[in-house]
Amino acid sequence: MKTPRIEIDLSKIAHNVKKLAELYRAKGVSIIGVTKGVCGDPKVARVFLKNGINIIGDSRIANLKKMREAGIQNLFLLLRLPALNEVESVVKYSSISLNSEIEIIKEISKTALKNNILHKIILMVELGDLREGIMPSDLEDIVKEVMRLEGIKLAGIGTSLACLGGVLPDDKNMAQLSDIAQSVEAKFGITLEYVTSGNSSVYSWLNSTEDVGRVNNVRLGESLLLGGKDLECKGIPGLYYDAFTLVAEVLESKVKPSVPYGKISVDAFGDIPKFENRGQIRRVILDVGRQDFLLSGLSPRLDIEILGASSDHLIVDAKETYLKPGDEVILDVDYGAMLAAMTSSYVAKIYLNEEK
Ligand SMILES: *Cc1c(COP(=O)(O)O)cnc(C)c1O
Repeated sequence: MKTPRIEIDLSKIAHNVKKLAELYRAKGVSIIGVTKGVCGDPKVARVFLKNGINIIGDSRIANLKKMREAGIQNLFLLLRLPALNEVESVVKYSSISLNSEIEIIKEISKTALKNNILHKIILMVELGDLREGIMPSDLEDIVKEVMRLEGIKLAGIGTSLACLGGVLPDDKNMAQLSDIAQSVEAKFGITLEYVTSGNSSVYSWLNSTEDVGRVNNVRLGESLLLGGKDLECKGIPGLYYDAFTLVAEVLESKVKPSVPYGKISVDAFGDIPKFENRGQIRRVILDVGRQDFLLSGLSPRLDIEILGASSDHLIVDAKETYLKPGDEVILDVDYGAMLAAMTSSYVAKIYLNEEK
């Protein structure tokens, strides 16, 4: 079979989605299924939609367009803040978008009005992670302006945590989100459809809290796809962590020294390589490289060790395992490595256990 390839076990993803949807539904919380980690793969999106999720979120309009063109009719939410130059496509390919800048919202309003549609806006508030969001003290003024605009509807407020600053959702910041939602509702006499938190790291808080307050939605990608992550960045109990695996083939397998010899300069990426002297070892070359993965996110299933990679080669110390040209090697991936493999046009995408 063709290599390198990423094998996507759709039944394992379905299991993760079902489990999390049940768990969160019991708390009164719905899920927006985030597909950016799989580049808006329509087959994965369909698995989300079949197993308890109604809204798909993605950070890229190109991914939303791809899913729309594959025939998916559900609500789409744009996760990344819209760029001014893409507002036409924002209203064309998404029904809801996350926003923090009034100038952009005004443009969305104009464009929606022109196209005779109603676009929903979720205002993002900053709660400490310091990626996107309006400072809470500025929120009221912005809501006031948003309420005056036509073509758009204020559908909710949201926050992003554990994205840049690594700040976890906890009782304190989630209570703050609830308070902000309630005060907006009271002040403006409206009901917010979505009070939304993210990302997957919301699990530890949601699983342990008795009272979710006004939070009624979470945006999840990683935990649906790879079963991560709880407070210690480990997998969530009862989920599959291996729905995605990268498979590569052996190109060369030879006993050679463990340390390069000759005058040493830099490697193909400008780094000065360091190698531990282990004497003679079995060095195996696999047909996958930095163009196809994130090196730090790969873990071989076999007891072999990654020594390094160039753009198209992965070199491992095979230790006690005998590998010969033509053998296949399975590598587990983390979110970053999965994203890179899904993005690489050189990696074939193979679906396992697809429901017909
Ligand atoms: C990516 C993203 C998510 C989902 O993050 P995961 O870590 O994959 O769960 C949620 N919200 C926003 C705004 C995002 O960009």
